Amino acid sequence: MKRVVLIKIAEYDPQILKQKIKSTLERYFPLEQYFSFRDKILLKPNLLMPSSPHEAITTHPAILETLGEIFKEKGFDVFIADSPGGFVSERDMDYVYQGCELKDVAKRIGLELLYPTESMVREGIPLCWWAVSGRKRETFKIINVPKLKTHDIMVLTLAVKNLYGCISGLHKSHLHKKYPRPQEFSEVLIKLYQMIKPSLNIVDGILAMEGRGPAKAGSPRRLGVIVIGNDALYTDFVISRLLGLKDEENPLLKKAKEKGLFCEEELEFISEDKDFKVKDFVFAPPAITNQIPAAFLWLFKLLIRFRPIINKDKCTGCGICVKVCPKGAIEIKKQKAVIDYSKCIMCMCCSEMCRFGAVDLQSSIFVKALKKLGHVLGRISK
Ligand code: SF4
Ligand code: SF4
Repeated sequence: MKRVVLIKIAEYDPQILKQKIKSTLERYFPLEQYFSFRDKILLKPNLLMPSSPHEAITTHPAILETLGEIFKEKGFDVFIADSPGGFVSERDMDYVYQGCELKDVAKRIGLELLYPTESMVREGIPLCWWAVSGRKRETFKIINVPKLKTHDIMVLTLAVKNLYGCISGLHKSHLHKKYPRPQEFSEVLIKLYQMIKPSLNIVDGILAMEGRGPAKAGSPRRLGVIVIGNDALYTDFVISRLLGLKDEENPLLKKAKEKGLFCEEELEFISEDKDFKVKDFVFAPPAITNQIPAAFLWLFKLLIRFRPIINKDKCTGCGICVKVCPKGAIEIKKQKAVIDYSKCIMCMCCSEMCRFGAVDLQSSIFVKALKKLGHVLGRISK
């Protein structure tokens, strides 16, 4: 049985978090059922970039601290690991851990922070060493701790999408380039879901993100929930429905259903608040690439062009976008990023990874005209 439980928690209050998460685990996900005494526990948050918790870009450190405490009290060794975008070296990752306030957490309760320094290829995908089971050095039981956020390509980023951060370093950008459309990208995510299978998924939806997520362009939105599930896909399904999204509008769920991986009858959903539903959640604008047959993608790129533009006032010339760009389309000139559009494939990795919010999305005149027409038609039909 796939079990998903929703609990309501208004704030990141350490005492309330601990009491509620602990009692939910004891009641619905007894640890002895999921873990053996010798297991090493790896918490896998979403640490997209160094970012303050109030921006809702990354998993809140209070949740990771709470989980660390709960598992340590039970006698487990607990680790934290992620592999966000272009942060590949230990120094880069230290910068992320520091920025996400996890260095303090690790020190306070004795957790070890791991680094994505080695990778192992599984089914054609290079994974970080800590995500590969059966490795001689160490095997971890993964607890997936994503943030509840919108995503400009996948509509939502929840438990399954968070597994993308198990892919080693810059390979993530290359896969984005290879599979630019949500349908194809969903195949990669499903492969990861089938390979990695976290023991538990604990989604941080207390301060979620809506609008043009998953990074600086999104807006924090207080939902006051944590969703815990023993299967990443079913956990995502529950959240997607609670946010008012139809299954066919969620590319990941659509693909999972096509592949016969999802059966609603197998789901047991338990909610602390039976009436909980989010009525006016703002999603990112739908990915038009999803609607266009692959053969016509070139025409789409020509006419319906969304392209990244550098906001020179915000750009610090840090060079992260240069590292993550899968096409080598960005250079730093006079301390500012400059994009060569003849190479750009509009994957938007640069926008996602820029922690200064210096990469904006510019739409073509054709798209602007379509939007205007949509507004006019909308007014006429009212
Ligand atoms: S656009 Fe962003 S990531 Fe790129 S150099 Fe400027 S500040 Fe750094
Ligand atoms: S410049 Fe273009 S190809 Fe490079 S990361 Fe940005 S959107 Fe992707």
